Amino acid sequence: MPDITVAIDYDETFTTCRKTWTAVIELLRQSGANVICISARFPNCPIPDFPGQVYYACGQLKGEYAEDNGIKVDVWIDDWPSCIGEVAHRRGVQSPQSVQRRQLFNRMMAGLTKS
Ligand SMILES: [Mg+2]
Repeated sequence: MPDITVAIDYDETFTTCRKTWTAVIELLRQSGANVICISARFPNCPIPDFPGQVYYACGQLKGEYAEDNGIKVDVWIDDWPSCIGEVAHRRGVQSPQSVQRRQLFNRMMAGLTKS
């Protein structure tokens, strides 16, 4: 695995099974990944048991928080994806599958309107 940063959410993600996620984190680290926690929590509600660096986004969209604080996240793991928001390096970019779907739809619609 290349040198990537994986951000794991805490509440309802890491907490769903601490033992399993700890093993996953260890495996990711053994493969060369940097694994951190970015939580929506405020620091006055501390996270005591995440095995690694914890960042507190304090309710800010996590992608925006990471960008504002110079944290480059490659992969997000979160039970509530809308809490991440749009990430800077993907802003305005559609997935290749979205482009393909639109092309397929347009071809299909063009076929329907020919007759
Ligand atoms: Mg969560």
